[in-house]
Amino acid sequence: MVVLPVPGDLCRECGLCCRFSDPSVLTPWAVRPGGESLPPSFRPPRPVGLTPGFGRMDLPVLVCDALSSDSYRCAFWGRHPADCRLYPLVLVYRDGGFLLALDTDCPFAAREPQSFFLDWATRFREEEWTRLGPDEIPALVDLARSEDRPHYRPVLPLPDPEGQMPS
Ligand code: SF4
Ligand code: SF4
Repeated sequence: MVVLPVPGDLCRECGLCCRFSDPSVLTPWAVRPGGESLPPSFRPPRPVGLTPGFGRMDLPVLVCDALSSDSYRCAFWGRHPADCRLYPLVLVYRDGGFLLALDTDCPFAAREPQSFFLDWATRFREEEWTRLGPDEIPALVDLARSEDRPHYRPVLPLPDPEGQMPS
């Protein structure tokens, strides 16, 4: 499985991931409506929930209940959902096609060159994306479309499956 090697000490210092101020967006896809139909690689080993947590700047925050509060580690590490494993690469649906883009808000995005993220995106395309069945990928369209943000920097287009895609 492809897991981007974001250093644990950087995440502990940053602390943005796995915490969400708005549960309807920016959460793991597995906890949003429609998550049941996701391909298995986008689902966690057990259902994921959100629990109230401590925010920064007095913002209300919900925390994924697979996150350990003291170690800042994911209980599913290595088997966590594909959208979690890829971050700060993000699967988006833009201009009628899938692509992997880089969220430049993540501090790790500035630590490595574009070629580093292109290599990891290519690994994901070859090892996971092209092995998804043509029936599995259309289930990702709406979530990938809602995920897109203007500041995300394109890294790698991904091929559509054979057959009809939703418009
Ligand atoms: S935004 Fe980046 S550095 Fe911060 S917790 Fe998430 S992956 Fe780690
Ligand atoms: S499943 Fe793991 S990596 Fe994904 S949001 Fe929850 S704690 Fe974070």
